[in-house]
Amino acid sequence: MGVAENVYYIKNRIKEVCERCGRNHDEIILVGVSKTHPVEKLIEAKSAGIDIFGESKAQEFLTKYEKIEGAKWHFIGHLQKNKVKYIIDKVDLIHSLDDLELAGEINKRAQKISRVMDVLIQINIGKEQTKYGIYEEDLFEFAERLTQFNNIKIKGLMCIPPDEGDDKTRQYFKRMKMLFDEIKKLNYRNFDIKYLSMGMTHDFEIAIEEGANIIRVGTGIFGERDYTKEEKK
Ligand SMILES: *Cc1c(COP(=O)(O)O)cnc(C)c1O
Repeated sequence: MGVAENVYYIKNRIKEVCERCGRNHDEIILVGVSKTHPVEKLIEAKSAGIDIFGESKAQEFLTKYEKIEGAKWHFIGHLQKNKVKYIIDKVDLIHSLDDLELAGEINKRAQKISRVMDVLIQINIGKEQTKYGIYEEDLFEFAERLTQFNNIKIKGLMCIPPDEGDDKTRQYFKRMKMLFDEIKKLNYRNFDIKYLSMGMTHDFEIAIEEGANIIRVGTGIFGERDYTKEEKK
């Protein structure tokens, strides 16, 4: 299937799962995760109705950003502090805040261009060594510390759960929803908790059932990623 058909198919599945669990499909934001895929595919996806792209590497994002007009961009990968300055005026949401120093850098760069940067806090919900994100037990202390940053707005939470099968995944998503509901209750000045970003190609339906309102779909839209090709470029 081509990219356009894939988009159509994913959007249908979103509608179906929303009907099943009594949610309004308009409240689900679909991010097309375009990392490693060429610009032509992003253009196809955009014509088919994807208006937000998710990228995880600053350099790759910057080359694509120039070539596509009128799209919105979410930064979904681990963000190095020294890359913040390149993306600060170009992305609408950073999904991967998990470090105070990074927060400080985002804040500083945002202040310089007089903007307030929307961010999600990434939770390492499965406490995996290989994954970024803060542990859930550190969330509330971390949140409190973020109140010092006037040019950051905390919009919600993001996670990538371990791949341990659907039942486990659902449990991780349930925990995320609980944390999301808890953090919503804080009325910190620079918090406006709206988004729960969870669910990818293989688990977005479970994520929607458990309360996600941003899902990040790559393979399901663009096909398999070819990392070997990417590295040679
Ligand atoms: C790559 C990536 C995705 C998309 O994964 P698929 O399984 O291809 O849908 C989603 N979220 C993040 C943070 C990613 O890095």
